[in-house]
Amino acid sequence: MRLNILAFAAGIIALQMQPELPSAWPWALAGLLLAVPAFRWRGRWPARLILPAEWEGCDIEVIGVVAALPQDFSQGSRFEFAVETVSTATAVVPGHIMLSWYQGQRDGEEFIRQPMKPGERWQLTVRLKRPHGNANPNGFDYEAWLLERNIRATGYVRQNSPQRLTEMVWQPDYVIERLRDRVRAAFAEMLPAAQYPWTGILVALAVGDQRAIQGDLWTTFNRTGTTHLMSISGLHVTMFAALFALLTGAVWRRVPALALRLPAQKAALLAGCLAALFYALLAGFAVPAQRTLYMLLVAALAMGSGRVVAPSRTLCLALLVVLLIDPWAVLAAGFWLSFGAVGALLYIGSASVGEASGWSEKIRAWGVVQWAATLASLPVLLLVFQQFSLVSPLANAVAIPVVSFIVTPLALLAAVIPWWPIAALAHAILGWLMLFLDWCATWPVWSAPAPPLWAAVTAAFGVAICLLPRAMPGRLIGIVFLLPALFWPLEKPAEGEAWVSVLDVGQGLAAVVRTREHTLIYDPGPLYSAESDAGQRVVVPYLRSLGIGQIDILMVTHRDSDHAGGAASVRSALQVDKVLSSTGEADAEPCRAGQAWTWDGVRIDVLHPLTDDYDEKRKSNNLSCVLRIEAGGRRMLLTSDIEARDEAALLLRDPGKLAADVLLVPHHGSRTSSTPEFIVAVGAQHALIPVGYRNRFGHPKADVIERHETAGAQIWRTDRDGALRVVMGDGELSISAWRQLRQRYWQNTLSGQRD
Ligand SMILES: [Zn+2]
Repeated sequence: MRLNILAFAAGIIALQMQPELPSAWPWALAGLLLAVPAFRWRGRWPARLILPAEWEGCDIEVIGVVAALPQDFSQGSRFEFAVETVSTATAVVPGHIMLSWYQGQRDGEEFIRQPMKPGERWQLTVRLKRPHGNANPNGFDYEAWLLERNIRATGYVRQNSPQRLTEMVWQPDYVIERLRDRVRAAFAEMLPAAQYPWTGILVALAVGDQRAIQGDLWTTFNRTGTTHLMSISGLHVTMFAALFALLTGAVWRRVPALALRLPAQKAALLAGCLAALFYALLAGFAVPAQRTLYMLLVAALAMGSGRVVAPSRTLCLALLVVLLIDPWAVLAAGFWLSFGAVGALLYIGSASVGEASGWSEKIRAWGVVQWAATLASLPVLLLVFQQFSLVSPLANAVAIPVVSFIVTPLALLAAVIPWWPIAALAHAILGWLMLFLDWCATWPVWSAPAPPLWAAVTAAFGVAICLLPRAMPGRLIGIVFLLPALFWPLEKPAEGEAWVSVLDVGQGLAAVVRTREHTLIYDPGPLYSAESDAGQRVVVPYLRSLGIGQIDILMVTHRDSDHAGGAASVRSALQVDKVLSSTGEADAEPCRAGQAWTWDGVRIDVLHPLTDDYDEKRKSNNLSCVLRIEAGGRRMLLTSDIEARDEAALLLRDPGKLAADVLLVPHHGSRTSSTPEFIVAVGAQHALIPVGYRNRFGHPKADVIERHETAGAQIWRTDRDGALRVVMGDGELSISAWRQLRQRYWQNTLSGQRD
């Protein structure tokens, strides 16, 4: 309600700024602008309640509606659920939750998933936890993503007699979701994925279901700077709306009867807005599409107001309105990308929409728009993804028109009329485009460390100067402002210094050891599912954000998937010079006690296992590679998953070698390890525990934590503190935790004192 008032106020302000009261049609647009958030925000705002901690992990019976298109993954399916009634007495559950419904064996329990569709009402027993995501520098912020969707608890469906109560709950948003579900199913039927490799892209373009796209295709899109085309994002909705506006304008101008009733330009703008609304709805009314819709409505309102409004003013107004409607927009990189794209379009192209005459002029205008959109996206891409594809202007110049003007309209036509030839034609054209993009993907990519925010803002300013009208002299000065972001230097440890980052990968381990010129990965992290692992989700993005593409040593401490699961992803994405491991793979050298080297004044020793340990065919935990790092008189001991017998063996061999200031606690704080004798011999002031939030093993055990605390160590744990960073050198030692560095007000006020 508050937001509707704010949106209304913004509308009033916009109207007050007009020199005269506008004619009827802008009112229609303004009405649309207000109706959209009213529809969307119904029930969304008051319910930012988070799941109370005491209800985490409890069985709760709820009745509610499948609120969005379910997403299948290897172990089942995931869906948003709008809770209507909580049947369990005294239980408190947020109104909007995300549930997984597993299929098959999981933690010794057999799950049988039942087919479900959006709009169905179900009675379910669920087990929930508070929203939690891995917290890493420059990592994907899953908690912000959940918050943006107002999902205030996540969990899974229990096996006790789930029941479908109603086939269809007739509410507009559920009807739209059901339609999307039907379109997705129709595509799967017309173009089975086995014969048609790009069906997923068509589904993504038609209904905004990006998960339909296979993982390896994303590499091609990333390398060619065309990822944005695969989501129904700002640029896309804008292009589709522009296409409709152009067509309508062209028809209107040729039919005098129509043009007499409404000027062609206004008819074109109205058609464009309606097209944007239709597309945004079919796309599931995802937040990025919504924002673009508001932006386009405001822009259309300004452009059609009958007076010349500076594009910059239009854009500012659009920004104000979007932020008033949706203050969370500022959290989303996608928003800034689409804002940049729409801005670039308005900035130079506003006059040409529906006005450009002659093909050559249109093509030239297109080229300018293209160049502007590419340039405008550069600061955001560098800030968020740390790479910028050099081939991106060429790839986009071809891909944007093909996707926006041919493939997407055909996909939408196939969505409305599910007739095989239409879908197959869209698929064939997409196939040619993919051949071209595969070729483009062989071009080099500009990678740079993530620049600080000020450098990105400076770069955005530079872009704005570059894009000034051609008549303005000295536009190229803008390039100077781009330089800090493009050439941001790699931040490095000093000589003799070691930086160790224990990343937050959930239950498992991934750490990165850096000296001035060298990098070692101490375990690439866990496997999450058939589709994803920590290597690709956490370790590689983290290293990219630092500007590191080459790894001296990848150490895979042992075979267990919570440590080794990310190895393949790391090896395929980064240049790995050497692999040390205890897994016995042919292309890896075994780690052995006694191996030692010095990097930039930092001494690194392998303390475990012995060669004999390999011969004994011991279980994988007992073969964990143990590493000791010594920098400037400070020491850190990394113990992976060693158990009590290995601790005893290390003590027996040379207890003096174990002394360290910082201990990476063995086996995630399990009772199998951290024997009192071992803790005393290490004598660490800081005990770091890599552990998953509410993990199924109950790690770390309370008595193990107590043992470390009694011995005088301060406890740090990745589930509570996020990624941990240890800096050692020159007698100095400092430890910082990412969740403390990146405090957000909503994490405290909205989530309470959590984890
Ligand atoms: Zn482990």
